[in-house]
This record gives sequence, structure tokens and C-alpha cells, in this order.
Amino acid sequence: MNAVATEFVYNALPARVIFGAGRRSETAAEAARLDCTRPLIVTTREQAALGDAIAQQFDPESTHRFADATMHTPWDVTARALQAVDRAHADCVIAIGGGSAVGLSKAIALQTDLPQIVLPTTYAGSEVTPIIGETRDGEKRTQRTLKVLPEIVIYDVELTLSLPVAMSAASGLNAVAHAVEALYAMDGNPITSLMAEEGIASLAAALPEVARAPESIDARRTAQYGAWLCGTCLASVGMGLHHKICHVLGGAFDLPHAQTHAIMIAHVAAFNADAAAPAMKRIARALNAEHAWTGLHDLAASLGVPRSLEAIGMPEAGIDHAIDLVTRNAYANPRAPESRPLRAMLERAWKGLPPALVE
Ligand code: NAD
Repeated sequence: MNAVATEFVYNALPARVIFGAGRRSETAAEAARLDCTRPLIVTTREQAALGDAIAQQFDPESTHRFADATMHTPWDVTARALQAVDRAHADCVIAIGGGSAVGLSKAIALQTDLPQIVLPTTYAGSEVTPIIGETRDGEKRTQRTLKVLPEIVIYDVELTLSLPVAMSAASGLNAVAHAVEALYAMDGNPITSLMAEEGIASLAAALPEVARAPESIDARRTAQYGAWLCGTCLASVGMGLHHKICHVLGGAFDLPHAQTHAIMIAHVAAFNADAAAPAMKRIARALNAEHAWTGLHDLAASLGVPRSLEAIGMPEAGIDHAIDLVTRNAYANPRAPESRPLRAMLERAWKGLPPALVE
């Protein structure tokens, strides 16, 4: 039994969540609940066909498509999508895809206040957060505002079956990282921690099965359920050093988002191990491991995700720049991110060495 916190603040966020295989067929009915009949449907290019399939639920005359969503929500893409909103006289946005499609939908909502229906196809969790990151002039800026929180989320597990095994593993670990940092968040609370532990346990159980049998609806369902919980953790409490590092590395070196998370999370858990012992105990329990950091490392190793920052394109010379950026505007974290241990950790991660308890 976990000790009850003496005081805390818990912010519940509004969202209507529809969960179940095949439930994408209810998209138009859900739009009607919002009094919307003229959607702009957004996807990446790779997932344009999914957008076309959802469009068939609506009157072709009043339904428009935009299939240029791109990672990190570049402003020029948003500007073109906003023109499409105007031309279409759209009354809602429907996003189908991972964080990139959802990011574009949020960027449109930020400018227009249009309601959003989101059908996630990865485990990133953006669909349940009031967070948006946008890239302008080469710089990615993130903000929290309820204006971007999607009104309706449809978790149709069938949409995740095509997610390649490597991407499923990385995206699942991206979700796990949200829950790990929620468990030691400075503004943590018992409700979010419950979701975090359940989210980690669900993904830890499901991801190896997804890797073994990617077509398994049961495994995919458990992974998607875990991803929802972990996304809700990201939405509810502040993230720490791990998210700061991933944000910095993604922005400075254009590293792939989910893979960066997958490489870093065990290292940061080791970095924070002593400073956040109660959280680490819960993470270890969820992973059925002796320690949080060894459990996270073993899970990532079993899933075959990239092991080193070098392998995903970070230059070794970039470590200094990364340390500078991470320490400049550090996120609240159980252990102060001092340069020396930070360097030791990043050097290990760059080389692909296992995590270690750095002094
Ligand atoms: P993504 O959306 O960029 O998808 C990666 C690729 O996989 C794309 O080509 C996509 O079309 C494809 N894909 C997605 N689902 C698929 C499926 N089921 N089958 C086949 N292909 C599929 O990747 P992501 O990791 O989900 O999102 C990353 C982006 O999301 C980043 O920009 C990140 O900053 C953002 N993000 C934001 C939040 C937030 O709360 N604001 C949270 C997490 C991630």
C-alpha cells in the first residue's frame, strides 16, 4: 500500500474517450454530437488513405483533406492547413495518426478554436494533452493551453495494427517515459501516480507481445490502454530532466522523437534513482524488476530499439551544446542536473553503454 499524500492538487482534464476495435466508424456520429458536419481531416502523407477512409462517413461536398502533417509541427505547414480550413469553411478538425497529425490538429485549434476529434495510431499520447510544440524559424516552442486539448478521442485499436514493430517499441517507451517522470513530478498527486503505475505495467506487459505478434489485438489493446494512461500523466503534471533532454536533443539535432525517448529513459531513471526512491520503487514494481533503471533498460533491450544516440544521428561534439541547453532552463527534477554527471550520462547514452548510477 502506498502512503497517502498529505496534500496535493489534482487537475482533471475534460475529454470524451471512445475505446474499442472498429469504433472509428463512429467518427461522423461523434462529430454530430459537436454539431459539426464540415471537417478538415488531417494526416501525414503516409497515412493519407486512412484519412480518405474516414472522409467517407461525411458528405463529400463538405469534407476536406489535408495530408501534409509533419513531425515537430512546422509553422509553414500549419499556415497552409489554416488556408485549407478557410477554403473549406471547416467547423471541426479530425486528426488520424501519431503525434505529428495530432500536433497539426492542435496548431489549427490554437488559431481557430475549432473542436477536434482525434484517432491516435501511435502511443505518443498527445491526443489527451493540452500541450503543443510548434517549430518556427528552426526553434521548437512548447506551451500548455486548454485551447489545444482535443474534445473527443477515439482509440480504435485496429488503427495501431499497422504501426511497424520498431516504431511500436519506440513509441511505447515514449509513453512509458511520461509515466516515469509523472511518478517523481514535483506537482505529482496520487491519482496521476495510479495511472502512471498502471500505464507502465500495461505497456511493459504488452510491448514484448506486440514485438512478437504485431497483429495481436489483445496485445495492441493493452498497449493502447497503457499509452492513454501515460499520455494522461503527461497532461496532468510537469515533466522533468528526461523530457527536457529529449526536447533539447530533438530540437538541436533533429533526432527522431520516440527513439530519443526510448534511448534516454533508462539513463535518466538511473540519474534520478537515489533522489526519487519512492517513485523508483513504484516504477520497478510496475516493471516487475529489481530497480527502475535496470527494468527500463531490460525492457528497451528486449524490444530491440536503438541503443545509442550516435545510432540515431547525434554528433558526439553535440554533447557540450546539449549540456548547455539542458542546464540553462532546467525543468524541475528530483536531482539537480549538474554538468559533470549529466556529461557522464550523455556520454554513456551516446555510446550505447548500459545506464549507470552516475555520481
Ligand atoms: P509521428 O506521428 O511522427 O509518426 C511517425 C510516422 O509513423 C509517420 O510517418 C506516421 O504517418 C507513421 N505512422 C503513425 N502511425 C502509424 C500506423 N499505425 N501505421 C503505420 N504508420 C504509422 O510519430 P509520434 O512519435 O507519434 O509523434 C511525434 C510527434 O508528436 C513529435 O512532433 C512530438 O513532439 C509530438 N508529441 C507531442 C505530444 C504533446 O503532448 N504535445 C506528446 C507526444 C508527442
